[in-house]
Amino acid sequence: SYIVFNGELTKRDTISIDIEDRGYQFGDGIYEVVRVYNGRLFTWEEHVERLYASAEKIRMTVPYAKEEMKAVMEKLIEKNQLTDGTIYLQLTRGIAPRNHAFPGSDVQAVLVAYTRVSDRPVALMEKGADALVVEDKRWLHCDIKSLNLLGNVLAHQEALDAGCYEAILHRDGVVTEGSHTNISIVMNGTVYTHPANNLILNGISRKVMLKACDSTATSYKEEAFTVEQLLKADEAFITSTTLEITPIRRINNQPIGIEGEYKVIKKLQEAFTADIEAECGPLH
Ligand code: PLP
Repeated sequence: SYIVFNGELTKRDTISIDIEDRGYQFGDGIYEVVRVYNGRLFTWEEHVERLYASAEKIRMTVPYAKEEMKAVMEKLIEKNQLTDGTIYLQLTRGIAPRNHAFPGSDVQAVLVAYTRVSDRPVALMEKGADALVVEDKRWLHCDIKSLNLLGNVLAHQEALDAGCYEAILHRDGVVTEGSHTNISIVMNGTVYTHPANNLILNGISRKVMLKACDSTATSYKEEAFTVEQLLKADEAFITSTTLEITPIRRINNQPIGIEGEYKVIKKLQEAFTADIEAECGPLH
């Protein structure tokens, strides 16, 4: 299969990563995961905006224009004949002898992108996923889509070890987000989700979900909620590029709402699907 390496399409086995790449040595870089439905990019503009915003926050210069980036991703989809799946793309601060200090301006960011085939997780989206509440021990710039995912990896593994699908993170009893998802709850018909500040990643699917709230006349508040409120919620769900809107069935082994009913969630899922179809064409 083909990948993008520094702006060019090339075969995966023809490139190698330098041992002094700052992404490899420091996790000094940023990334995006973009969904492709019917061979078309979904919410590309939002993803590319967030990528450039992340770059700015870590003072990295992206050596490509946004349009250039889109054109090469579309070429990649075409070359790999990707119909349904994702594009993973990352930028690191480049290759330089190991030193915490930024390299000189002659060192360019390294861009890598590749595709992966995947279907919508329809069974999970219907049945719901189990989750475990875990302390959020990450840093205070979770709004940056950084390659440094150790805090997320450890939390996620803790959930997996407990037989769960996702970790729900909290700081001092206040829920922030999942290890690789955003989380929302429904209480008395209103959707609550953490405000998009430095404590969470401003998820693109979270945005699509809020748009779905508008189009279905569901009230919502970008307001933090506690673990206690989470456990008593009528419904709870996670959102992400690959999981769209996925209900949470049980948290810490305790059922949330009525399994399989998911009244508000189902309404939002339908509006989410309509949004995908409007941009990428009919889903089968
Ligand atoms: N929060 C974290 C920590 C994530 O890693 C992700 C996605 O990978 C999300 C939220 C969801 O973001 P998006 O909807 O843009 O995929």
